[in-house]
Amino acid sequence: MSKLANKVALVTGGSRGIGAAIAKRLAADGASVAITYAKDASAASAVVKAIEVSGGKAIAIQADAADAGAAKDAVEKTVATFGRLDVLVNNAGTAIPKPFEEATLEEMDRVLDINIRGVFATTQTALKHMTDGSRIIMIGSAVGERAVAPGLVPYAATKGAVKMFTQALSREVGSRGITVNNVQPGPIDTDLNPASGDWAVPQKAATALNRYGHVEEIAAMVAFIAGPESSYITGANLTVDGGMNA
Ligand code: NDP
Repeated sequence: MSKLANKVALVTGGSRGIGAAIAKRLAADGASVAITYAKDASAASAVVKAIEVSGGKAIAIQADAADAGAAKDAVEKTVATFGRLDVLVNNAGTAIPKPFEEATLEEMDRVLDINIRGVFATTQTALKHMTDGSRIIMIGSAVGERAVAPGLVPYAATKGAVKMFTQALSREVGSRGITVNNVQPGPIDTDLNPASGDWAVPQKAATALNRYGHVEEIAAMVAFIAGPESSYITGANLTVDGGMNA
């Protein structure tokens, strides 16, 4: 029996990178999966196709996480399509790397709106539908706990907020048997943070394993937290960073 058989998962920002790997992994573990995306419809439908070809069920929903109304509608559409919601993965996130003194308020608002406001709106709507034993999983960041490099001040601040959101929310929904956890990746090779180029050199060097991580290595942790064996883990920040914060 698949670990997530008869479960329904929503992965925000599931068309590329870490979110796409999470969506595919949860589907492989038996869940029906809804993904959201902001711009790239063809990447989103490629993820849906890949899941369907492997025998799973998936839908893609266009919903910019910065738009709270769209984020809420995505939850409702997931429930309307699959009938329930058991696992929410708040993965959509962005960074606009630059020195803090050069960051505009508009850029800071964009990072806040996607990384925090979207997470609040999505989670609040999801909780209306979630039953006992459901799972809320954030994709925070290792820099939410330790700022290893300059250039990520607003981003690190939002990921620190994601960390405390996780801990605080776990206290409110624990009585319903709902767990809330924060997976904190280190440098993972994606479009957002490619493993090649100048920006990658110090990040790779900062890890104990001296390499970037793969998206599947984050998906594996998310799958564990989504599954039945993690039932006593909540309010936790689970860092998957090749030892960057060691
Ligand atoms: P990518 O930029 O590679 O992929 C982002 C995904 O999110 C895409 O599917 C994209 O879809 C979607 N997306 C982007 N903006 C929005 C939005 N406003 N609303 C809805 N969906 C959106 O990012 P990663 O996979 O690298 O990052 C995923 C998460 O992991 C983020 O929260 C990030 O902060 C976190 N993280 C990443 C690390 C890394 O090293 N890569 C390290 C630590 C944390 P579309 O193309 O349609 O915009």
